[in-house]
Amino acid sequence: MSFTKAYGKYFDGHTSKPYDVELEIWPEKKISFFYNHRKLNWNFEEVSFEKNSDTLYITRKENHAESLRIDNPYVINLIYQSAKKSRNISWYQNILDLGFKFYAIATVTVVAAIALFYVFVIPWMSERVTEITPVEFDNKLGDSQYNQMESILEIDQKKSRILQEFASNIDFETSRKLTFKVVNDSEVNAYALPNGTILVHSGILDKISNYEQLAALLGHEATHVKERHSVKILSRAISGYIIVSAVTGDVNGIMSTIADNANQLNNLSYSRDFEESSDAGSYQILRKNKINPKGLEELFSILKEKEGLEIPKILSTHPITNDRINFAKKLVHQNEYNSIPHQELEQLFTELKK
Ligand SMILES: [Zn+2]
Repeated sequence: MSFTKAYGKYFDGHTSKPYDVELEIWPEKKISFFYNHRKLNWNFEEVSFEKNSDTLYITRKENHAESLRIDNPYVINLIYQSAKKSRNISWYQNILDLGFKFYAIATVTVVAAIALFYVFVIPWMSERVTEITPVEFDNKLGDSQYNQMESILEIDQKKSRILQEFASNIDFETSRKLTFKVVNDSEVNAYALPNGTILVHSGILDKISNYEQLAALLGHEATHVKERHSVKILSRAISGYIIVSAVTGDVNGIMSTIADNANQLNNLSYSRDFEESSDAGSYQILRKNKINPKGLEELFSILKEKEGLEIPKILSTHPITNDRINFAKKLVHQNEYNSIPHQELEQLFTELKK
């Protein structure tokens, strides 16, 4: 085995004076040098290494005052890599050596953990929270939302009665009481409150051209109510906070967050999985009632139409993604269905459009 020659400074531990010494570096094994006519052999197992940006200190484990200092970057690297291969570098020095790499790995790990938490843990928790929350809560929440907005809504009483009758011809397969109202508002929008109040703007009615499309829209909104999506969104928002608060012990924070979120529920949009679930629910309702499910597909093309630069408001609370369109297309085209003409729906729809 051959060694490499290099120069270093030796501190003997008795005085602070350094001595210039000529080193023999034996790869992965030891460093030897002459001092006072004696040959000293420092095996890598017997020393510890401390590397700063441009200096390497090698200290004897037996006597910390005795050390070598090396300033030549090439030699530092040579010794250091060699010592590393012999695994005599402490774990924390290894982490320091990783530098940027270490922080990048740590950051990615933390971000991945948070993502998993939001994707799996929070939705799971929110399902459990919703299960133990009585439906009465949904009703109270919806009632209070409706009371807050009632004064600014211009309800078309006559059309609301027709819409209610239209809906009464459809079995929504729920024991929840559903109330349908037409709001005089040119904004293309429709939404469901958790108490079962479904508000349909005149703006969206203007765009809808057949009763199948209207039934698809009502089925979608009714499914948001049936599946309690508002409560699930609320409990998702709160679940995250509860966990954080459980760690930090901030109970008052939890209470005020519940209050804040309840008020802001109007602004929370449904997530993609809730939208797909409501599309699937709407499809099932159409199928059960033998209404042609193409209404669902047509509804999307109506909603996706932009008027000039204006994006229909409904897309902000019920975002239509390509995934959602493909999902609905699959439902409609990959399943067999039986549709029959519905004269009552047709007639009520015509009245609604007057
Ligand atoms: Zn929706």
